[in-house]
Amino acid sequence: MRAMRLTAWGREPTLTEVERPSPRGDEVLVRVEAVGLCHSDLHVVDAAEGALPYRLPFTLGHEVAGHVAALGPDADGPPPGERVVLYGPWGCGHCARCAAGRDNYCDRRGDLGWHGVGLGRDGGMAEYVLVPSARHLVPIGDLPADQAAPLSDAGLTSYHAIAGLRHTLGDGTNAAVIGVGGLGHLAVQILRATTPSHILAVDIREEALDLARRSGAHVATLLQEDTARVLRARTGGVGVDAVLDFVGSDTTLDLAAALLRPGGELALVGSGGGRLTVRKPGVLPPGSRLSLPFWGTRPELAEVVALARSGALHVETEQFPLSSAPEAFGRLRRGEVRGRTVLVPD
Ligand code: NAD
Ligand code: ZN
Ligand code: ZN
Repeated sequence: MRAMRLTAWGREPTLTEVERPSPRGDEVLVRVEAVGLCHSDLHVVDAAEGALPYRLPFTLGHEVAGHVAALGPDADGPPPGERVVLYGPWGCGHCARCAAGRDNYCDRRGDLGWHGVGLGRDGGMAEYVLVPSARHLVPIGDLPADQAAPLSDAGLTSYHAIAGLRHTLGDGTNAAVIGVGGLGHLAVQILRATTPSHILAVDIREEALDLARRSGAHVATLLQEDTARVLRARTGGVGVDAVLDFVGSDTTLDLAAALLRPGGELALVGSGGGRLTVRKPGVLPPGSRLSLPFWGTRPELAEVVALARSGALHVETEQFPLSSAPEAFGRLRRGEVRGRTVLVPD
């Protein structure tokens, strides 16, 4: 079968012929119907040798939807044909966190040598993907595959980040979303669906701001010198209760700090490598809280899928055949994608 593989650090991934895996033990073979392309895939491709604990080569693709093709002899999972989305942050499978479906915070995460499916383990940019255990499968019913696949990271990561902020997002509050791409446009929709907050969106592209407005943002503005002042004015001068930063550059972290209200909370999701100095007194207002959410939990993935099936979420997708994966990577790199790119095996 064809697969989009990372074969050397510092080199673009390539479409390669590999053998179709067959499930052993507890494993489940899933036939891929759609796989999302995440900005993290670019961070992985661009990583210097030694920066990530992954062994090469492996197949990329960590946002995967498909149907069960075959079960290993010991697998206790849904029958062949069942349509599923993959819970991606595979942990050790044995610790208390993994037992609770919180593989994203597995106690042995630092020793695993991978971060999940398509991140150090063979992922879904292929016709089939091998899943180590049926516990990583979440049924999707008749949800279209291009809608389901991005839920497993863009949707889940946003949902998990917002779940951590929910206590600060009651009536009369303001939430800022910085970077309205694959994750950000779903974060806006999840904020609208699950909180009463007023939503302020920021991006550097007009078409991302259009998407922010269509996703339910109350205000959408281009990042400029005076953005912090303009947005603070939209909060009556008090500042925002929570900032979700889906970029994580020096610029966006400075903006986040300038926007926060005393007692506010910053969730840093983007892996842009920017720095923020935490100091008392410093740039963060008194009472600030900072979180570094990573992906999400399995129960949360089931909740995101339910939210999407209720009609509350619509993923803006651009679809390409898997054979066009190299072009799709190029479009994402050049900032030409609106919403999420989804690859479909051809
Ligand atoms: P994306 O490319 O789809 O979207 C990024 C958006 O940010 C784009 O709309 C872009 O125009 C905008 N942007 C870029 N620079 C900006 C700036 N200075 N100010 C405002 N907006 C700016 O990316 P994505 O797939 O949504 O991923 C977003 C980030 O989140 C990436 O860094 C990715 O690696 C990270 N990520 C983290 C997790 C996690 O678990 N923490 C999970 C998935 C992705
Ligand atoms: Zn991702
Ligand atoms: Zn574990």
